[in-house]
Amino acid sequence: MRAVLDHVGIAVSDLPASLAFFKDVLGLHVESSEEIASQRVRATFVNTGQSTLEMLEATAPDSPIAKFVEKRGAGMHHVALRVDDIEAALAHLRSRGIRLIDEKPRPGAEGALVAFIHPSAAQGVLVELKQPAPKVELFTKGGRHTLGDFELITLSDGFMGLDGGAMFGVVPRTLWEKRLPPDDSNRIPLGMRPLIVKRGTTTVLIDAGCGDKMDPKLAQIYKLDRRYHLDHSLADAGVSVEDIDIVVASHLHFDHAGGFTKIGKDGAIVPRFPKAKYIAHRAEWEDATHPHERNRASYLQENFVPLKDAGVLTLVDDAAEIIPGVRYRRSGGHTPNHQVLMIESGGRTAVFTADMYPTSVHIADPWVMGFDLYPVDTLAFKRAFAPEAIQREYLLFFEHDPSMAAGYLREKDGKRFVERVI
Ligand SMILES: [Zn+2]
Ligand SMILES: [Zn+2]
Repeated sequence: MRAVLDHVGIAVSDLPASLAFFKDVLGLHVESSEEIASQRVRATFVNTGQSTLEMLEATAPDSPIAKFVEKRGAGMHHVALRVDDIEAALAHLRSRGIRLIDEKPRPGAEGALVAFIHPSAAQGVLVELKQPAPKVELFTKGGRHTLGDFELITLSDGFMGLDGGAMFGVVPRTLWEKRLPPDDSNRIPLGMRPLIVKRGTTTVLIDAGCGDKMDPKLAQIYKLDRRYHLDHSLADAGVSVEDIDIVVASHLHFDHAGGFTKIGKDGAIVPRFPKAKYIAHRAEWEDATHPHERNRASYLQENFVPLKDAGVLTLVDDAAEIIPGVRYRRSGGHTPNHQVLMIESGGRTAVFTADMYPTSVHIADPWVMGFDLYPVDTLAFKRAFAPEAIQREYLLFFEHDPSMAAGYLREKDGKRFVERVI
């Protein structure tokens, strides 16, 4: 169980007198104040960096805080620890026979879920567990868009959490944390959004998420959340695994190619889509099957080698046409042969940007991932691509965005932004 100090609760009988010390003498910043009706208490939060002081004032004579002050005087009331999953934390405590005040989480301030542990179990200290409200909206469901003769269906293979610093390269945390706030382990939430491109009876799947073969330790490091994954998403879209004719890889990193294979009944790893032909870039395949120290953790051989063994893999080169209207375009940068997919029909263009624009927050040219092997190549591609995408109104698909699947890149008064479509 991982717990981080969230706040220290202080029972006060005279809030102005308390603030005269904490605010005026210590110079701390008062953040906000909120009434919690169920507890008949008003909480005023004072910022102390990573955690806060919570000044608690009774709003009615029968409030627990009024009783506390009456019995023991003003002073320290409780310590609150922040956890990722409060249900799991309570289950863990129950299994250890710990006495709880709240058997179930209840609503706390600022949309959090909270539960108290009895002081008799914690050396006389009243301990609050708190699961904060999610800071980033997670968009799970897929969506559809018609582009000329194509039907585009965005899917979800769930979410993961990667180090925010690695996701934004040289951009300081003070800039990116406002857009994608990290958790207590500095991880930001990221989606995994494969895309279906359908024309008539032909169904193409671009990338397939990380799949279900990841070992539990890595799944924990990457905060893998596949409660809703690709099988659910395909079912919701009315597509079966047998319907997929072609699976094409933007590149072969685990969060894109993990879902290409699965563990078969006899334990052998087999293609996940039984009738599909798989397509990858020839030079990307060479890199993926000959990894070095810097990219080995991203290229997990079980995700793609079984495709070759099964005879379902076709290797192609730059600008290869996957089906008429869908082609590779080399962006490089992230990996030397990383591809975006250009989808064109009826005079309109959609682009599956994969790890070139992993999220809509990455649309600024220098916001390049630290993961990229050749960041200056990514920069060069982005500088050329963005004006083209704005001018020609490309519909951009953001594979790792936690809160949206697709949108248009716009520019107004020299500022770029994304107009969400899905
Ligand atoms: Zn990648
Ligand atoms: Zn990726």
